[in-house]
Amino acid sequence: MNCYDCTVASTTSAAVAVCMECGRGVCMDHASVIKVPAFYEVSAGMAPVRRRCRLDRRRVHCGECQAAVDCCDSTGG
Ligand SMILES: [Zn+2]
Ligand SMILES: [Zn+2]
Repeated sequence: MNCYDCTVASTTSAAVAVCMECGRGVCMDHASVIKVPAFYEVSAGMAPVRRRCRLDRRRVHCGECQAAVDCCDSTGG
């Protein structure tokens, strides 16, 4: 699979990842890697304790989906 954004720009690059939102293939130049913190719950008899996993999960957005996140997330629309 080739990078969608590169193909639109009339160049060709091999895709190294797939956008989690729209499923486009993206090359390293067009991929926005976001780290998603992972949590897990430990039940110690009392109320469960929420612990943060040390391993962040990496997710990839294409340029367009990342721009949409930057555009709307903080303003609520
Ligand atoms: Zn690209
Ligand atoms: Zn996308």
